[in-house]
Amino acid sequence: MDDLRRSMLNTYTAQPLDRVSHGRQNTAWLGAQYQHPQASYLVLNDQDVVTVDEQVLALNQNQFQLLKRVQAVSLLGIHKAGKDKGSPVFVLNVADVETELAALKNTPDFQSKTLGVISLREISHQLGVNTAAMYSYAKLLNHWQLTTRFCVACGSGLTHQQGGLSQQCSNEECARIEFPRINPAVIMRITNGDKILLARQESWPERRFSVLAGFVELGEPLESAVQREVMEEVGLAVDNIQYHSSQPWPYPNSYMLGYTAEASTFDVELEQDDITQAVWLTAEELREKNLAGEILTPPNLSISYRLIDDWFEQQTGVTLASIQPEEPWFVAEE
Ligand SMILES: [Zn+2]
Repeated sequence: MDDLRRSMLNTYTAQPLDRVSHGRQNTAWLGAQYQHPQASYLVLNDQDVVTVDEQVLALNQNQFQLLKRVQAVSLLGIHKAGKDKGSPVFVLNVADVETELAALKNTPDFQSKTLGVISLREISHQLGVNTAAMYSYAKLLNHWQLTTRFCVACGSGLTHQQGGLSQQCSNEECARIEFPRINPAVIMRITNGDKILLARQESWPERRFSVLAGFVELGEPLESAVQREVMEEVGLAVDNIQYHSSQPWPYPNSYMLGYTAEASTFDVELEQDDITQAVWLTAEELREKNLAGEILTPPNLSISYRLIDDWFEQQTGVTLASIQPEEPWFVAEE
C-alpha cells in the first residue's frame, strides 16, 4: 500500500471536492458558481454543524436564496465526480441559527422540523467518508475566517478573496494577503520488539490510552520533532523513523503527520506533567486489557487509532474492530 492509499483510510481525507485554485481567480467564473442552480451550502454555526431533525443541513440554491441576512459564504470547491460532478459546494456560517434560518421554517421542506447544532466530532461517524471530509474542510475554513479578521501587519480589517480561500487587508497601502494557517503535529507509534508504547494524559477520558503526539516547532524537520517529542514526553531515544500517513484534524486546525519509530530500551521516564502513565504492551496484552475494559483505545476517527490498529493487525492478523464490540464509526458513502 502506498502513502496516498494509506492516508485515504484516515477519516477526513477522502475529499470529493476540487478546490479549483486557478479557476477561482477568474471573477466571472467565480460569480457564476454563486448562481449555480445545483449549488449546495453546508451550514455551520461557528465550529459546530447545523442539523435539521438531527441530520446535517445542506441547503440547495432555492433554499439559500430565501435567506435574508447572510454573514459569510465561501466556495469550498466543485464536485470532482459522481452524480454531482461540476456542482459547487459552499460553506455558510450562521451566528444565530434560529434567526438567520427563520425564512426556511415557512417552507414545506422545513415545516415541523427541528433545527439544531452538533459538534463534527459527534456526528462524523454518521457521515459517509466523502461528506465527513467536506465538513472537515468547511470547519477548518470557517475557523480560520472567524479567528483571522484583522491584518497582522497594520491591524486593518480583512476582506475575503478567491471565494474565501484567502483574505486581503482592506488598507490599500498595505494590501497584505493572508492565507489559512495549518498547525502541523507529529503523532508516532513507538514499538520495541513485539511491544507497543501506549500513554495517557490526565485530561483524557478514564482508561483511554493512545500514542504520543506533539506540535512541530519552527525550523524543525518532522523526524526530529518525532525524536524530540518522544524524549520530552517519555525519556526514550528512538530511531528507524518512518512516515505512516497524514490526516487533516479540524479540532480546531491541526495537521497530523503519522510516523512509526523504534526504541531500543523499555526505560520510560515521565518528564512532563501531561503524560501521567505509559505502558508497554504486546498485542495479546492489549487485547486482554481492552476486552477487560482496563485500556480503551482512541476513537477510530483519529489517526492514533489507525497507528495502533495497523500494528495490531500486523501482530495478530486481525483488526481491533474485530475484537471490539462497538459498531464501526463509518458507513460507506452511497
Ligand atoms: Zn494591512
